[in-house]
Amino acid sequence: MQSPQERRVCRSAAGLLLAVLLATAAPMVEAQQPDPLQEHWYHNWFTLTEDIMAWEEDFPDIVRVVSAGETLYGRDQWVVQISDWSLTNKSDGTPKEQVYIDGGHHGNEHLGTELAFLTAEFYIEGWAAGDAEAIRVLQNTELHIMIMLNADGNDADTRWNMNQVDLNRNYDHHWTEDETASGDGPFSEPETANNAAYMSEWVADADLYVTMHTGTWILAYPWGFTPQMPPDHELFTHIADEVHANISADLPVRNANAGIYPTHGTSRDYGYGVMGYPCFTFETDDEQFLLWTVQSLSDRLAVELEVMRYLIDNVWYWRARLDVRSLEVRGEVVEVDVVNYGWASTANASIHYSDSDGELLWHSAPFGVNASNDSQAFLDASNLTSVEGGTWSLHYQKRVIDAAVWVGEPIDGGVVDIGAKKSALLPAPSLLLSLIALIGAALTRREN
Ligand SMILES: [Zn+2]
Repeated sequence: MQSPQERRVCRSAAGLLLAVLLATAAPMVEAQQPDPLQEHWYHNWFTLTEDIMAWEEDFPDIVRVVSAGETLYGRDQWVVQISDWSLTNKSDGTPKEQVYIDGGHHGNEHLGTELAFLTAEFYIEGWAAGDAEAIRVLQNTELHIMIMLNADGNDADTRWNMNQVDLNRNYDHHWTEDETASGDGPFSEPETANNAAYMSEWVADADLYVTMHTGTWILAYPWGFTPQMPPDHELFTHIADEVHANISADLPVRNANAGIYPTHGTSRDYGYGVMGYPCFTFETDDEQFLLWTVQSLSDRLAVELEVMRYLIDNVWYWRARLDVRSLEVRGEVVEVDVVNYGWASTANASIHYSDSDGELLWHSAPFGVNASNDSQAFLDASNLTSVEGGTWSLHYQKRVIDAAVWVGEPIDGGVVDIGAKKSALLPAPSLLLSLIALIGAALTRREN
């Protein structure tokens, strides 16, 4: 039985030449693959390793390489972490946005894997060349890119991993044995378990996840397991409209169930349904051109790269971004004026009131704020009593999907207006409080 290496060598004489070069070169060739070769060649795990290690060596300020774990045959699942690592936070002191990308779930889908490589390369080489967009993105964003998830399958030029499992049916989200080759159970395979562990450990707060494949040309959002639209359909539809208006009117941007076919246990549905990320499957077109053709990969994947640049440059918008403009306590009601700068809605916002030790004294009922919109909420405050040194905060989920990350932010005291009612500083029994409340309410009515 042939080893994976031997099978790869059989693919072409050129592959043999490269394999021999790699096998005999010790240590590995220092220089990065020259672009003319790389642009007409698909990576295998060895050439990919060589290229990303060269990135890390040449650009230590922006490139870090970590392994998310090993494949069945013991190959590292490299993640290229790209950001301006001299800056811990953005210039306003808030954490950088996080983007997660993977490629190569299916080992024979080379164009999708190369799109992950080209995306990393765009920002690394752009930063090195002083490109304003690349610099801006890397100052404000962490890119985490696992270019080749299924290195064994890539080596053997097969869809499956070495257990003959379809890794993109093996995730712990509506996993079923009814899917072809979905494995012995959710995350039965190291490649998928490692990917999920990486998500939790490094990019739990990501606001974009794109998983790259090769198939019928499409940018597909959740769900795969059901034809129902995802809870954040507003966000996905907005992105579809912008892609069609500004980049490509032809690229289908649809939910995966309708746009591709029904699937269970995919990384896209897992990323959305369990991690709460806005997720896309990017399928490059399925013509697997022959090696050494005239068209370069960059030309071939130009539209896809442009879409990726748009998704990454605008990652700040792919969640709810609430800002409390004013908060007034009026009688038994807290009235808040909230604006949402993001393109995702949130359904579970609430106002919290805590004492100076941070102990929660009161919280409002949940209220929703639509994407890119203003909202006024009138919240029952009948059991709210203000105290000296009390503080207000806003809590909400970044998106509508249940799994979305929660955000807690202090509300600037400058926008808060507390009426005379309800102060624990008053030596007041509840009767006095009620009287004041009544007067307050009467005054309010008269003003109105
Ligand atoms: Zn695929």
